[in-house]
Amino acid sequence: MKNSSNSSSDNTGSGNISKLDKTPVILIADDDPSMRLVLRHSMEQSGYHVIEAANGLEALQAAIRQIPDLILMDAVMPEMDGFRATEEIKKITDCTDTPILMATSLDDDRSIARAFEVGACDYVTKPFNWSVLKHRTSRMLFAADAERKIRHLAYHDALTGLPNRMLFMDRIDQAISRAQREKGQFALLFLDIDHFKVINDSMGHAAGDQLLNVVSQRLIEVLRKTDTIARLGGDEFTIIIEDLEEAESVVLVAKNILAMLDKPVQVNEKEVHIGGSIGIALYPQDGENFGTLLKHSDTAMYRAKELGRQTFQFYADEMSQKAMQRLDLENQIRSALKNEEFTVYYQPKVNLVSGQCQGMEALVRWQHPEKGIITPDDFIPLAEETGLIIQLDEWVMRTACDQFKKWKSAGYPINNLSVNVSARHFKEGGLLKHCKKVLDDIDISPKFIEIELTESALVDNYKSAKEILTEIHQMGIRIALDDFGTGYASMSYLKEFPFDTVKLDRSFVQGLPDNVEDAAIVKAMIQLAEALKLNMVAEGVETEQQKYFLADHCCAYGQGYLWSKPIPAEEFEKIYFK
Ligand code: C2E
Ligand code: CA
Ligand code: CA
Repeated sequence: MKNSSNSSSDNTGSGNISKLDKTPVILIADDDPSMRLVLRHSMEQSGYHVIEAANGLEALQAAIRQIPDLILMDAVMPEMDGFRATEEIKKITDCTDTPILMATSLDDDRSIARAFEVGACDYVTKPFNWSVLKHRTSRMLFAADAERKIRHLAYHDALTGLPNRMLFMDRIDQAISRAQREKGQFALLFLDIDHFKVINDSMGHAAGDQLLNVVSQRLIEVLRKTDTIARLGGDEFTIIIEDLEEAESVVLVAKNILAMLDKPVQVNEKEVHIGGSIGIALYPQDGENFGTLLKHSDTAMYRAKELGRQTFQFYADEMSQKAMQRLDLENQIRSALKNEEFTVYYQPKVNLVSGQCQGMEALVRWQHPEKGIITPDDFIPLAEETGLIIQLDEWVMRTACDQFKKWKSAGYPINNLSVNVSARHFKEGGLLKHCKKVLDDIDISPKFIEIELTESALVDNYKSAKEILTEIHQMGIRIALDDFGTGYASMSYLKEFPFDTVKLDRSFVQGLPDNVEDAAIVKAMIQLAEALKLNMVAEGVETEQQKYFLADHCCAYGQGYLWSKPIPAEEFEKIYFK
């Protein structure tokens, strides 16, 4: 076989290309000890290492243990004959290509045909012609070695000796089968060396090759033996990480690889600094075959590059992208709390008969440094889910109470401040203590303060909510049921909880006065509130007609764009306390 003239083939990283580089191991299976002795002598003379087996079964065991380079197999043996043993040995994964030379005294056609059938490469007849035997074994070893080399070249990268794309595809298929069987998952990492092209162009291809060899060597060191590392070409490496208990453990692998790339590399007696970008695709969620997984890990790798290199990225389909955005938003809310990016807007609550502003609802806003004002619908749900709402609500209550106290002290004619309180407070407790603390710190009478809750906050935490609200109510703080009419069991809740106010949901006000159904419902709700001696605030009043309808039917208060959107404190002051 021709040798590759490529200068870089010296640096083949993997020492596995030629088995002839080491002493070939010959397994001699014969039940006749004196025959084994002579064969051993002859083979050792040819420079081979010999192992022996006294029957087919022993030969099978020896093959599993030592994976010989060639087997000299006697046909007729006790326990297990040579034909059976050959058949069994061929089933061993590592021995499928091991040449087996059947030694037989039977030179009848049937036996010879059988020898080939079970997988023998060739046969020799006893008594041996020693010269023929020597030539035959030597030729078979040479052929097997050549075949191995060809296969290695076909499946490995000539520069680094790592598996190439062909073998990698094969390994992915195997990993998929295993993952399917074991209901497991695996990760495909796509690694691209940062700035490789610059080094290759400025220092020459030999330097580039050297660098790639160092990287592949380091990859082998940093990864487990069970992980497959391949070079797809250029400066692109791919890695399969199996036995992933959780997707997160691949993060550790990616970090290790990046840390190893961060160390300088010695090329042409110069120290060069490289780095890498890694994209990660997970089986099965990011793709179910080689092509998709590779494409997605590649996409993720590009995203990692965009993010500034020396970093990794998971392939994010829409789902995981959403999850990442959420995580991002969560972190942003956290730092927004720390950096005091939140602010409170106020919306007037108006007496429908006198037209006077009698109080206001505090509504939180996020003053995002880049995105500007963000309304609560875009962050409250996540803040609730993560529990950050507790901190946020407490901050809003404190800020709003502080503002209210200032207005009150300035003599403005207001008597009510509403703050919204999330359901989360009833799961975690602490609301009562917090209310007390705020009122104490700010020194404000509880009778001015009203907390607003939705029915859903109460449904899930019926018992604790009832206890907490009863205590808060006993302190003198007023309690309002928000979004009234949209809940489930309004009637019974209205009686059982210590409400002072119900806020008629905007969706019923919208259809007034023309929508007959809405009109009927609103009328009934006003009557119900009246019967239960509850204050009624209609939300979302946008038109004069809505206001008249509500006033005509004895709804006491209204809130809505008709008077004002929620606005900052200074604006509120200008409009209402001129
Ligand atoms: P909500 O408590 O029902 O507040 C009323 C919402 O209706 C406010 O939306 C307000 O801007 C809007 N609105 C008022 N009048 C009109 C109108 O005439 N037309 C229309 N189309 N909308 C009107 P916002 O400020 O975006 O707040 C949304 C929700 O976020 C609030 O609904 C409340 O559930 C929640 N929220 C706001 N601030 C806080 C807070 O500090 N803590 C908690 N836990 N939730 C808050
Ligand atoms: Ca509210
Ligand atoms: Ca509401």
